[in-house]
Amino acid sequence: MANKVHVMIVGAHCGDGEIQAGAIAHKYAKAGHEVTFLHLTAGEKGTPPQMSVEEYRKQKVDEAEQAAKILGGRSITLKYKDAELKADDETISTVATLFRKLKPNVVITHWINSMHPDHALCPKIVEGAWLKAALPGFDLEGLPPHSLNRMFHSENWEDMEGYEPDVFVDVSEEFDTYLKALSKYWFIKNSSDFRYYDYYQALGTMRGCVSKHTYAQTLKFATGMNVRKETAIPGFEL
Ligand SMILES: [Zn+2]
Repeated sequence: MANKVHVMIVGAHCGDGEIQAGAIAHKYAKAGHEVTFLHLTAGEKGTPPQMSVEEYRKQKVDEAEQAAKILGGRSITLKYKDAELKADDETISTVATLFRKLKPNVVITHWINSMHPDHALCPKIVEGAWLKAALPGFDLEGLPPHSLNRMFHSENWEDMEGYEPDVFVDVSEEFDTYLKALSKYWFIKNSSDFRYYDYYQALGTMRGCVSKHTYAQTLKFATGMNVRKETAIPGFEL
């Protein structure tokens, strides 16, 4: 395929990437592009009643695999521990090595402001890994350097301070499948802390209303990289 894209969604916990950009990812997967959900932790500490952290970790990794399959992507869950994520050299090197191995072009991750420290670290880890993967002076398992083309932030109820969307993606055709994928997660359907399913169904509807689609998911340009190249006035191309 010409212009084949590999979209990688980097989330702090299994479920974050899917809720934030699962419908967008599915749209690209359906069109024949490659999609990877990379979960830096399983998000295993929000355990259901009568379940151990170890058991819930296994369940979340399994739920992530089921959701990714429905959306047309692959799921990778790293070893890091929920609520203990660090933007340190070891974590950045691990993600950079994955960038060199899997060669994503576009990465979508959390917004920079979040009430959850793991979420707020994700864009820092992605930026550090992007640089490390791209610089030939870093030896990562002997793999050749690889640079991303673009990074975007996406929308998560825990990361809303200062999040103003730049791009509204029409996901009207993908929304039912998106909700089906979300339903694979116990916490999305059953959490007593937050009504995840209702929120994201309503969010897709509301973002669709303002962008004149049935359903939409949004992206935000990376801070400091807000150069929007066009050949003419957008919408009035010559
Ligand atoms: Zn999370």
